[in-house]
Amino acid sequence: MQGNRWYESWNRAGLDETSQNPANPLQLNISPIRNWRALEVFLYLWWQDLPVNPLYDKGLERIGCYLCPAMLESEYEELKTIQPESAERWTAFLESWAAKKGYPDAFSSWGLWRWRALPPKMREICRQKGVEINDDYTLKTGPARPAGAMVDKRKGKTMKPAMEKQAGSGLDVQAVRKDFPILGDIIYLDNAATSFSPEPVVQAMVEFEHTYRANVGRGVHRFTRIASQRYWHAHEKVAGFIGAQSGITVFTKNTTEAINMVAHGLSWKAGDRVVTTILEHHSNLLPWRNLKKQGVEVDSIGIRPDYSLDLPALENAITPSTRLVAVTHASNVIGVVTPVAEIARICHDHGILLLVDGAQSVPHMPVDISRIGCDFFAFSGHKMLGPTGTGVLWMREPDLEPFILGGGMVEAVTESGYTAAEGYQKYEAGTPNIAGGIGLGAAVDYLTGLGMENIRSHEERLTTRLINGLRQVGGVHVYAPEKPVPRIGVVSFTVDGFHPHEVAQHLDESAEILVRSGHHCCQPLVEELGLPDGTVRASLGLYNTEDEVDMLVATLEELTR
Ligand code: PMP
Repeated sequence: MQGNRWYESWNRAGLDETSQNPANPLQLNISPIRNWRALEVFLYLWWQDLPVNPLYDKGLERIGCYLCPAMLESEYEELKTIQPESAERWTAFLESWAAKKGYPDAFSSWGLWRWRALPPKMREICRQKGVEINDDYTLKTGPARPAGAMVDKRKGKTMKPAMEKQAGSGLDVQAVRKDFPILGDIIYLDNAATSFSPEPVVQAMVEFEHTYRANVGRGVHRFTRIASQRYWHAHEKVAGFIGAQSGITVFTKNTTEAINMVAHGLSWKAGDRVVTTILEHHSNLLPWRNLKKQGVEVDSIGIRPDYSLDLPALENAITPSTRLVAVTHASNVIGVVTPVAEIARICHDHGILLLVDGAQSVPHMPVDISRIGCDFFAFSGHKMLGPTGTGVLWMREPDLEPFILGGGMVEAVTESGYTAAEGYQKYEAGTPNIAGGIGLGAAVDYLTGLGMENIRSHEERLTTRLINGLRQVGGVHVYAPEKPVPRIGVVSFTVDGFHPHEVAQHLDESAEILVRSGHHCCQPLVEELGLPDGTVRASLGLYNTEDEVDMLVATLEELTR
């Protein structure tokens, strides 16, 4: 039931008693007073002694829904006095949206946001004022502007415009972002969980599907030869990317599978010990704990008050029974980078194996395993711009027992046994994720093209800005070393009075900022930090910008206020 009337506008002059909502065919509109004039409306109210909505007296005509795009500009002006805070929030949102989309200031200041295609009157105003519009009467967009600058303008502060390609950075972030259409209108700060894939990676997979999809391995037809060659080449690219001149680079589903392959593939005896750390992701803890059934014990070493790994404790934890040390290269909760080369030296002095979990390092910094000197190195393709369902295990020697047996991993099968294939095939039984592997090779090409040093320095700059920004916000606690230490762009924080999930939800709903909240599969660490509810984690990637970091900080400022 609606109070629309013929005399309100030309649009309504032909209104029928009943009509269907064009946008929602399930909605039937009934207009019983369509032929009433304003006089009749008010006479009726007076006659029936009906209460009048007090908002009418405050200058609001359209009071059905708050912030109706059909409101008059004058009504928005009224809102600024009736509900200043809400009006300010709305203006801030409009400004940041205009900045993000590259709309002119008129988008928010003249209320042009209310139409997709501008009506004749607004087109005429735009013509007079020199605001450009497209042939379909939508507003012309320009380059995106720093949204954060506008947020600060409202607060009366001035802020230097962000220069994404800064001296020494070498990374043209705006150009990079064009390869990631998914970035759209959101601010993606969940890169530690998984990253986005650029168009060349998606295209490599589409090309496989469209032009030469076939199984890999021993086959002679043309498709299988192309697919096998490209899949093999992807392994070569990945190995080259991490400096693996020797050893074997195996494709897995993810880091978790890679670590499990090592835990299952080594032969253990009762009394063996594994040393791991409190920084570990559950994927680098549970596979070792699971060896308890075979009599293997796990020792976990902690961190120091400055969040760095307690290296002396690690050395002390090594006993004659220790077989392996399993350590992350970079923490997925507090971002600290561990001294893996030093740990490798300690391990080799004691004649024990070292597994490094590189899930968080490989996507963000140059990694050269020939310099680290580990025995196993695991990481995820999907966190380094590759497809989901991709990961890698590099091993110095192929002396692990394969975790899975079957087709593709044998040279010959005899009546009593088999001869394993050489190389990665031994560890990739069955049909692998061929499109994913080829996509991962394309991701390596993409990262190499940009330069890992450039990516590292861009992300380091953003990380410093993020940590410094968060530290300025009252009520926000950041879990990061005071002094700049080797770290990646993974920053955990909490906000007084809010559960981490509430903060994450607010960031999404109010500013389209996607962050992760909770324990980050690293419960022992977050509990050690005294945070049973976990943290909010913002994790940066190469396509993030300073404006996005500023937007996160500004939104948290608003929340805590
Ligand atoms: N280790 C670390 C340090 C991680 O950050 C993650 C993912 N969050 C993993 C292991 C597990 O990676 P995946 O889910 O790809 O197996």
